[in-house]
Amino acid sequence: MKKEYIIPIFVPHLGCPNACVFCNQTKITGKQKQVTAQEVRDTIEEYLESFKDTENKVEVAFFGGSFTGIEEEKQNELLEVAYEYVKKGQVDSIRISTRPDYIDRKILKRLKKYKVKTIELGVQSTNNYVLERAKRGHTFEDVKRASKWIRHHGFVLGHQMMVGLPESTALDEMNTAKDLIKLKPKMVRIYPVLVIKKTELEEEYQREEYEPLSITQAVERCKEIADLFNQHKVNVIRIGLQNTEEITDPSNPKSQVVAGPYHPAFRQLVEGNLWYDAIVAEIKKYNMKVKVVEIRANPEDINNIIGHKKENMKKLKELYDVDVNLSLDDKIKCGKFEMKILKTYEDLLEEVK
Ligand code: SF4
Repeated sequence: MKKEYIIPIFVPHLGCPNACVFCNQTKITGKQKQVTAQEVRDTIEEYLESFKDTENKVEVAFFGGSFTGIEEEKQNELLEVAYEYVKKGQVDSIRISTRPDYIDRKILKRLKKYKVKTIELGVQSTNNYVLERAKRGHTFEDVKRASKWIRHHGFVLGHQMMVGLPESTALDEMNTAKDLIKLKPKMVRIYPVLVIKKTELEEEYQREEYEPLSITQAVERCKEIADLFNQHKVNVIRIGLQNTEEITDPSNPKSQVVAGPYHPAFRQLVEGNLWYDAIVAEIKKYNMKVKVVEIRANPEDINNIIGHKKENMKKLKELYDVDVNLSLDDKIKCGKFEMKILKTYEDLLEEVK
């Protein structure tokens, strides 16, 4: 499959009237400036120049979570620039992310005019109590309505959900994933909650009213959700916040993360765990004690099969005393693998005789 180049443009929601407990937008607004049309143009030009493979599709993505909540004039000004590049054939599509309550038919018609292709909704949870507790300011009804309209207007629908919100349980999160699947998104992002400086959540955390998930808990919860989305062919395009200068290890002085399941390779931890479970399930199907197995898989999956810092290989050795020989085979579909026994304990017995 051809890779897609993304040109990310962060659009902060200055003066956001909401007060989500995990977000510091309202507190840091003073330090932020709104993006200008010229900056959008410069960013697009800079990225286009750096792209090596001209065959790849290119998408301009306006991130920030509330695109349709900023002043309409500003939205149009930014979209106009991206649309120019679409018309010239240098950019293939435009993506925005926004809140479910910032979507209505009029807005969708306007976005259509600029050939926006994908709309991602920040859902976070479908449990109204959890949404209320996180002070999201919208309900699951808003999510359902917006999702339906987005699809009916011919846009590609994406969802974003969070794991570890205050008072949210693993069950609430599985139910959120199930609710979202029914709304037929094409893609989803899963974000474990991090406690960020200057947020209400930080205050709760300091008062010991909120306890963040550990990395193990977050990986375990995200794993189950990702597995469910995979089974329903919803593309999981991100697990964990993007590492930046500010979203980094809390021990780094520049980090805005106070606590929570931060890990620089969070997605690999989750994917690695999914692979580990699949490999163990396959080994358990053999009705004999195996010593060495061969796993054939697509080269793209090898890192996740090995696991972060070879974790999977070490666990297979420690818990099952199984050694793995890996073979790359690009004819095997991503996500699939074939396993063959290379040595059993019976063979070992023969060897020592
Ligand atoms: S996450 Fe909530 S508070 Fe932060 S910008 Fe979005 S809507 Fe506003």
